[in-house]
Amino acid sequence: NSEQQVGIVGSGLIGHSFAMIYAASGYRVQIYDIKPEQVQHALSTIDEQLEHLAKNGLLRGKLTVKEQRSLITGTNDLAECVKDAFFIQECVYEDLDLKRGVHAKIDGLCKDDAIIASSASALIPSLISQNLKHKNRFIVCHPTNPPFYAPLVEVIPAPWTDPDVVVTTKQLLAETGQVPVIVKKEIDGFVLNRIQYSIIGECWRLYEEGVMSVEDIDKVMSEGLGRRYAFMGPLETAYLNADGMYNYGDKYREMIYRVQCTFGAPRKMEGPTLDKIQNELTSRIPLDQLNERRKWRDIRLASLQKLKNDL
Ligand code: NAD
Repeated sequence: NSEQQVGIVGSGLIGHSFAMIYAASGYRVQIYDIKPEQVQHALSTIDEQLEHLAKNGLLRGKLTVKEQRSLITGTNDLAECVKDAFFIQECVYEDLDLKRGVHAKIDGLCKDDAIIASSASALIPSLISQNLKHKNRFIVCHPTNPPFYAPLVEVIPAPWTDPDVVVTTKQLLAETGQVPVIVKKEIDGFVLNRIQYSIIGECWRLYEEGVMSVEDIDKVMSEGLGRRYAFMGPLETAYLNADGMYNYGDKYREMIYRVQCTFGAPRKMEGPTLDKIQNELTSRIPLDQLNERRKWRDIRLASLQKLKNDL
């Protein structure tokens, strides 16, 4: 794989994580950012994380820290980053005009057969790529944050994306240990965020209506639903919670429908409820300790991955 190069455009949270994913599989990776200091920051974050993973026995792939690190280089030149890349992952801010501008530049610099992927969280691929010369090579690969520790990637082709781009992207992601799922139709929010937003919307409503504290709502997920969801999704959970789906429907459809009818219209996350949720969280996790808490989370996610691999 070290003969093949991946270009990462935008080296923030998602960009540096993708760089680690591809290097762990032996690809050469070039990281670019409009801000040179971001490239330096990404490289030092990668150093720190690789050491931390190795110390905890959680390094990914077969290569050593040194070998993985030697595959990653930073550049302040976009052409350098993308001109030889067979796969380009754009990871700039979620802003349609910015993404269109960045992709117009990549379009003029990349190889004709390169695959150009965007990390967009909700912007549909046809909106970003409609004016590109290489629009048939464009696809969205929406990762789960943090991508290195949460492997699911939503792969969303535009109507004009070549079928081989979908196949190769899926194969590449699977080879690196990520788990690709295909979104077959363009839809606002794709699938992960539609599900996530339905959960956060209901959590918000339950808190606002005084049903439960922030800490306890989060426990419903981390100690209840989430325990199962790390191994099987809600549909298989339902299937097993009765004797198959017909039986689940017979037993629970009226109750589920009755409760769903009480959900009501979406609410905006603002006002006094926002203040209260923020205050409850900051009293437990002060804002200057977010990085510590992220590290705490990431090590647990990596340990869960190890458990899943070992089972
Ligand atoms: P981030 O703010 O951490 O990083 C964005 C980087 O893009 C910055 O380093 C910035 O300097 C760089 N940048 C801005 N303009 C640029 C340009 N013209 N050329 C090159 N680099 C440029 O953002 P992030 O969280 O890494 O998000 C990147 C993308 O991934 C967004 O589309 C976001 O929606 C998506 N995403 C984010 C998450 C998440 O939870 N953070 C999850 C999934 C997908």
